Amino acid sequence: MTRGGQHAPGPTPAPAGMRELVAQVKTCQLCRLAKTRTNAVPGDGNTAAEVMFVGEGPGYHEDRQGLPFVGAAGSFLNELLSIAGLSRPEVYIANVVKCRPPNNRDPEPDEIAACAPYLERQIALINPRVIVTLGRYSMAKFFPGERISKIHGTARVVDGRLCVAMYHPAAGLHQASLADIIRSDFRKLPLYIEQARKMLRPTAEQVEERLVEAEAAREFVVHDPDTAEVIEHPTAPPTVMQRAAQDEPPAAETAPEPQPEPQAAPEPPAAGARKRKPAKQEQTDYKQLSFFDM
Ligand code: URA
Ligand code: SF4
Repeated sequence: MTRGGQHAPGPTPAPAGMRELVAQVKTCQLCRLAKTRTNAVPGDGNTAAEVMFVGEGPGYHEDRQGLPFVGAAGSFLNELLSIAGLSRPEVYIANVVKCRPPNNRDPEPDEIAACAPYLERQIALINPRVIVTLGRYSMAKFFPGERISKIHGTARVVDGRLCVAMYHPAAGLHQASLADIIRSDFRKLPLYIEQARKMLRPTAEQVEERLVEAEAAREFVVHDPDTAEVIEHPTAPPTVMQRAAQDEPPAAETAPEPQPEPQAAPEPPAAGARKRKPAKQEQTDYKQLSFFDM
């Protein structure tokens, strides 16, 4: 696929960090899914994308081709992107797990945990303004404890990014009544993107904190590399987002409240130039944002 998009002049070369990550994923043996994959599917698209999509995991066609969303769900995703005025080359698409679970079974918690640091690094490297979650497993990462049937099409700020929860495109293929709901959720995306452009991106410290947490969490997942059995899977300490969900204000959370009125939004500062202000209120009340439904 061609890289680069409308907002970038020509293809954006992958940063060195992303090339290294892709190489690591392709040879990764950190969980049992390594045993059954044909190809790992690190992700694809514009590495400078404003909008990043996070699916669940590769299916049959993705496993064969090493690319995300190239099967039937991918065709529907392409339609949904065009509804939102987006194209594949301008967005980045990744998955919660990078290797296909056998027979498309659900990914196991320890597989998701083992793979999470890759997704965290992808988010840090791409630094998107908007993350669109596709389906339950991706949603669970950014909207812990929520139900997709309740929050689909809505957004919240997580670590300085606008995260939008969408049904998985495959849900629309299996259940015709959902297809139009998913289309109408995607129609909201341009407004969310416009809104996110007026918000801060996360500070370097926030990005770094998430990366450190992701690496620490990985130590809690230990697989026997020969048998692929989980040796130990104690509960990892809560992440920034889990703490927020438990209403325990973490020390360094300062993502801004979204501004519902575009005129009232602050001027976007130069990336990384803005000093963090002491937050009036720590960002623990992740508001459900829906500019259309409220
Ligand atoms: N479904 C997903 O969640 N991801 C893919 O890459 C393909 C199908
Ligand atoms: Fe590694 Fe993720 Fe593949 Fe498991 S799913 S082998 S952690 S890349």
